[in-house]
Amino acid sequence: MKRSLIKEFRKIVGEKRCLWTPEDLYAYSHDCYARGNPELVLIVKSSEEVSSILRIANREGIPVTPRGAGTSLCGATTPIRGGIVLATNQMNRILEVSQEDRLAVVEPGVVTLRLHQAVESVGLFYPPDPASSAMSLIGGNVATNAGGPRCLKYGVTRDYLMALEVVLADGEILRTGSRAVKDVTGYDLTRLMCGSEGTLGVITRITVRLIPKPECKKTILTSFRTVEEASQMVSMIIGAGILPTTLEFMDHAYIRTVEDLMHLGLPVEAGAMLLIEVDGFREAVERQAKMIESFCRERGALGVQVGMTQEESDQLWAGRRMGTVALMRSAKLMISHDATVPASKIPDMVAHTHRIAREADLKVVIIGHAGDGNMHPIFLLDPSREGEMDRFRKASEELFLFTVRCGGTLSGEHGIGIEKNPFLHLQVDEVGVRTMKAIKAALDPKGILNPGKFV
Ligand SMILES: Cc1cc2nc3c(=O)[nH]c(=O)nc-3n(C[C@H](O)[C@H](O)[C@H](O)COP(=O)(O)OP(=O)(O)OC[C@H]3O[C@@H](n4cnc5c(N)ncnc54)[C@H](O)[C@@H]3O)c2cc1C
Repeated sequence: MKRSLIKEFRKIVGEKRCLWTPEDLYAYSHDCYARGNPELVLIVKSSEEVSSILRIANREGIPVTPRGAGTSLCGATTPIRGGIVLATNQMNRILEVSQEDRLAVVEPGVVTLRLHQAVESVGLFYPPDPASSAMSLIGGNVATNAGGPRCLKYGVTRDYLMALEVVLADGEILRTGSRAVKDVTGYDLTRLMCGSEGTLGVITRITVRLIPKPECKKTILTSFRTVEEASQMVSMIIGAGILPTTLEFMDHAYIRTVEDLMHLGLPVEAGAMLLIEVDGFREAVERQAKMIESFCRERGALGVQVGMTQEESDQLWAGRRMGTVALMRSAKLMISHDATVPASKIPDMVAHTHRIAREADLKVVIIGHAGDGNMHPIFLLDPSREGEMDRFRKASEELFLFTVRCGGTLSGEHGIGIEKNPFLHLQVDEVGVRTMKAIKAALDPKGILNPGKFV
């Protein structure tokens, strides 16, 4: 990048927030999937700064990749065409929490967990809970329409958005939505921006809807001999009119691998485990937990544990939360897909994934949000093994094809990024791609925002 341009950018953000040493560039070059070198990193503190930067970048045709915490699992944050990484982590103020209007107004750099804590301290609740919530930023969550275990009952990030402020590619500032719970004025630009992975604008202010904090919750951990038995239990719970907060699935390979690594006392003989949580008013929670417990026993569950206190509940969650981290340490490379199928197809999806992995000689474990069909086949790879990555790519394509044929989707929550870009055509037809391209061309005609990604 020309020195004169760097000077122009430095004038906007000041010297300390304009980074271009090799060490700094390296630190902002990757997310949790891939790497790509930026030429400049600009750490922004206001919408006005973002606007001034984009005006120049648009004039000069410089690529700009907006960045949250860089926890993307699909390379959405990787600056594959160089240019500028626009870091939003210092735009981190919670501007308002209104108990009266049940909403919060925040800047994009607020860590998700901080928002949870701030609203829960006044008896309110922001349900979307990506497992990365202790690191990810709310702007990144909006840009990827993040989900999480609680989304079975409460929905995803999109369902809690009321209004956004977005700086467009040419530096203009767009304001969408309102503070009203009901709002049908014009196109739903808020939802258009949600999940757009930094390709349509830079999100600089977010208004989210809040709900009352549930009075209590209960956690149940149960295991079954087979995947089919565990899946039947999922159908039985849903069929009985119970809508759990979470309904997490872990397969035999996951239980075995995590137990070998962490010695948590997990039932290694089980074909599958379910981690179920119910929340709400105390009486309702007690009743639902009892119903689930008796369903499990009736259906011959190998074991049922019920956690009453927060501490007991945390213990039951340990295998699920820590397991993924342990897996990361056990493999040279771990790639987690998030293909999502209709709930009735979960047993087929699990069987199919194991078959594909076996035939491709790949190691896979499966966890997932069983209630909403969002499965995570986690591939434990060794790129130094001959042909391993080629076999992995072929296996991924087969898996995505199967998912789409089942009426499912390539991505339930992580997004497309660069990881799933080559497979987009399996789900989005020509008309769909043309429509997406037309939207992109209208909002970012020079294609400077996060170029090389799904459009
Ligand atoms: C251990 C682990 C667990 C995870 N669990 C989940 C999970 O349960 N559910 C889930 O959905 N995801 C999960 N993820 C993936 C990831 O955390 C989410 O996609 C998250 O929303 C990304 O937030 P981020 O702040 O890190 O964004 P980044 O990774 O920095 O960016 C993600 C995308 O958003 C864009 N972006 C970021 N900020 C802005 C902005 N202000 N304006 C415009 N575009 C922007 C970027 O350009 C990029 O395209 C997990 C990741 C890890 C590492």
